[in-house]
Amino acid sequence: MEARINQGTLTLVEGDITREETDAIVNAANSRLMGGAGVDGAIHRAGGPSIMAECRKIGGCPTGQAVITTGGNLKAKHVIHTVGPIYQGGNRGEAHLLRSAYLSSLQLAASQGLKSIAFPAISTGIYGYPLTEAAHIALKTAVDYLRERADIALIRFCLFDRRTYEIFAAELKKLLEQETVSKSS
Ligand code: ADP
Repeated sequence: MEARINQGTLTLVEGDITREETDAIVNAANSRLMGGAGVDGAIHRAGGPSIMAECRKIGGCPTGQAVITTGGNLKAKHVIHTVGPIYQGGNRGEAHLLRSAYLSSLQLAASQGLKSIAFPAISTGIYGYPLTEAAHIALKTAVDYLRERADIALIRFCLFDRRTYEIFAAELKKLLEQETVSKSS
C-alpha cells in the first residue's frame, strides 16, 4: 500500500527489514544497545559485527530517543537504533514514548541528510505494545511528519507478518480518510 503525502511517499510492505534498500533502516533496540531477539537480532546478524562495535562505543540510548550507526554489510548505509517503550498497561507514558521513538528517528535521519527510511513495528513484539494502537501512533507520526516537513522523501513500514501488515493497512486507510474529511469540511 502506498500514499502520497505532500511531497513525500509513505509505503507499507510485508517483509524482512534487513533486505530494505532505504538510506537507513530502523532497529527496535533496547536501551543498552546490546542486541537481542526479534528484529534487533536479525539486523545484527545480517549487518555483521561492526554495527555492534559502534553500538558499544555509543554505550546506550534512552527510551524514546535514537542513535545512528553505519549499516555494516546491509544494503542500507545506516542503521538508526531507537528504543520503544515496554508496554505496561498504557498509563506509563507509552504512547508519548512510542511517538517519540518514531519522531526522533525521522529527525535524526533528516539531520544526517538521509532521504529514505524503513521502520519495523516498534515495540509490538517482545515489548508487548497492542498492535492497533501501535500502528495508529506509528502512522500518525509519519503522516504528520510528511505533512509538516519535506526533508524525507520516503517512509516505508516493513512489516514482518501478514497480520501486522493488515492492521497497519487498515489504520493507514482510516487516517487518510479522516484527512480527506477534515480537508473538505
Ligand atoms: P520490540 O522489542 O520493540 O517489541 P521486536 O523485535 O520483538 O521488538 O518486535 C518488533 C516487530 O518487529 C514485531 O512486529 C516483529 O514481528 C518484527 N520483526 C522481527 N524480525 C523482523 C525483521 N527481520 N524485519 C522486520 N520486522 C521484524
